[in-house]
Amino acid sequence: MKFGGTSVADLERIRRVARLVAAEAATRPVAVVVSAMAGKTNELVAWTDAAGPAAESLGLSDDEYDTVVASGEQVTAGLLAMTLRNMGIPARSWLGWQIPILTDAAHGRARIDEIPAEALTAAIDGGEVAVIAGFQGVTREGRLTTLGRGGSDTTAVALAAAVKAAVCDIYTDVDGVYTTDPRIESRARRLKKISYEEMLEMASLGAKVLHTRSVEMAMAHGVPVRVLSSFVEPGEGQGPDVGTLVCEEEEIMEKRIVSGVTFSRDEAKISLFGLPDHPGVSSRLFGPLAEANVNVDMIVQSHARAEGAANMEFTVGKRDAARAVEIVRAAQAEIGFADLSVDEDVAKVSVIGVGMRSHAGVAKTMFGALAEKGVNIQVISTSEIKISVLIDAAYTELAVRALHAAYGLDQV
Ligand code: ASP
Ligand code: MG
Repeated sequence: MKFGGTSVADLERIRRVARLVAAEAATRPVAVVVSAMAGKTNELVAWTDAAGPAAESLGLSDDEYDTVVASGEQVTAGLLAMTLRNMGIPARSWLGWQIPILTDAAHGRARIDEIPAEALTAAIDGGEVAVIAGFQGVTREGRLTTLGRGGSDTTAVALAAAVKAAVCDIYTDVDGVYTTDPRIESRARRLKKISYEEMLEMASLGAKVLHTRSVEMAMAHGVPVRVLSSFVEPGEGQGPDVGTLVCEEEEIMEKRIVSGVTFSRDEAKISLFGLPDHPGVSSRLFGPLAEANVNVDMIVQSHARAEGAANMEFTVGKRDAARAVEIVRAAQAEIGFADLSVDEDVAKVSVIGVGMRSHAGVAKTMFGALAEKGVNIQVISTSEIKISVLIDAAYTELAVRALHAAYGLDQV
């Protein structure tokens, strides 16, 4: 069982969580992963910002950042274990280094290498509820690490794989995965099941229900993940109709072509005009961006009218836009483009579904629905199971609703 920040935001909610854990622990052995109290990690990050320049800018490791931000989860793990004990349930807290959750040394965004779970498994088998601090790990040299914002989901799935759990239940502030964000489209429906692949696309395309890495890990290890609300009643969480199960595609009986519509406003479009149209240009452009760890998403290149010239457009996250422009400008002479412009008023809207693999006309429906609403498409990118378009951010809601209806996802 994993509980997010809003579910453990104060003592009263921690007591609620303890009752859910108690009901579960009465039927089978349980390990629990907790996040920091809502808002806590932001506060800790702000402290590290205020303490001085980022270590990275001085060429130092950001290990002390992790020492600070990992502390939020220690508090909730201890408080939940205490609360369970007060209810007469044997429990103890486990910090990342105590298990240990071994990670690489990429501080602030570490990846889990290995979890030798013998001690933890022995404790659970001995009838004790294990309450684990999410988000944190330790390097082989013994330094604390964190897994990147939202990383507690990844802790939970990694542990579920390590202890060979039957299921990993992610309790959160929504009651499942929806066909789109219900705050934008009230006719959005909860999906009873969704495949790992679709969930992975949804998570990386803007649906913030699960940490992307946790879905990758669940898929790699075949861990069934259930997303459900922490506001269910104790015992109710085990009902077959609760939440959304993220599982293998073959387990999903209800066949649909499109499962969801997502959007992300965290996009910026950079356009380069008058590039030389010969081999090596893309490499000179995207090489330095990759070296600076700027993640480039959509890319289109087209011929310009002038002989031998091309234009290129690509998107990056809004946070990276200024840095990306700086890097590209610095390499202007080497790349050899004439002009550059940036547009931050863009949004990416995507439709996702494994059914696309076997059905024609999915893109046509998308473009038709957008055209009917007068939404102009700036960039298109596709994979086997998703189509994304970049549009003017002002039309985000309109586009999401139009697509939701066009693929028959509206609740009737
Ligand atoms: N507390 C961490 C964060 O806010 C990790 C998590 O909640 O998943 O990012
Ligand atoms: Mg989260």
